[in-house]
Amino acid sequence: MKNNIKRRITTRVCADGIRRGGFARRTLAEDIESFHARVQKGLPKECWPWQGGKIPMGNTTGGEYGVTTFLGNRELAHRVAFMIAHQHESLPENVCVLHECDFGLCCNPRHLHLGSHQKNMEEAVERNRFATGDRSGSRLHPESRPRGENNPRAKLTAKDIPKIFELRSTGMPEAEIAKAFGLKNVSPILLRKSWKHVPIPEEFLKYNALKTHRKNNGQAHRRFSDDDIRLARKLFSDGFTVAQICRQIGKSYSQTRKIVRREVHATLA
Ligand SMILES: [Zn+2]
Repeated sequence: MKNNIKRRITTRVCADGIRRGGFARRTLAEDIESFHARVQKGLPKECWPWQGGKIPMGNTTGGEYGVTTFLGNRELAHRVAFMIAHQHESLPENVCVLHECDFGLCCNPRHLHLGSHQKNMEEAVERNRFATGDRSGSRLHPESRPRGENNPRAKLTAKDIPKIFELRSTGMPEAEIAKAFGLKNVSPILLRKSWKHVPIPEEFLKYNALKTHRKNNGQAHRRFSDDDIRLARKLFSDGFTVAQICRQIGKSYSQTRKIVRREVHATLA
């Protein structure tokens, strides 16, 4: 007991010359020694993995950083490796220590350099460390994303989505559909930007397919591509009016009418 009290009130002069009181802190030398004991050192060119505590990097690569306590502060191990190698006792939080080897646990100071968070992100993108496409979290673990009804802000249910497409395919204006469902806008749904995990019957999607052709909205004078022509004629034969078709594909009424009447491009199959 007596010993304990004595320990607690011990004041030490640390190797950095600062008098630290209250608790018996480890000295800088002790911290350095304990740090080195937890680094598995190899050849100068090799990565030196951290053997102590680890935390996940927080991205989807499953990488880890080493973590330790240095002069009483919780720090990332590679940052401490850099500090010790360059005789710093601390680094501002906004200064990053970057790995040239992309191995988060590496504590070989030759593999470490200073940089900003932005630089770190740029390097990560450059080296393809971020998971995109089929490696991305949203593909690997779709259940982890609040999709559709699981999104607490959802106003619709999955059953409403095919209904919206069906109504749109009858020619009902988007604004009216939105009103009917208490929404501001249904175009993200029709453009398959939201609720895209809900399957839509083929016959309703046909109308939606047109929407993606509207990229050149407001450029009615633009020439029809062969695909535009085929699409316009297909829709005309499916019973859509010229007005509906030209609005959907973003071309002029008169040109669309000529196309569907085969007054122009008559030879196109
Ligand atoms: Zn390394």
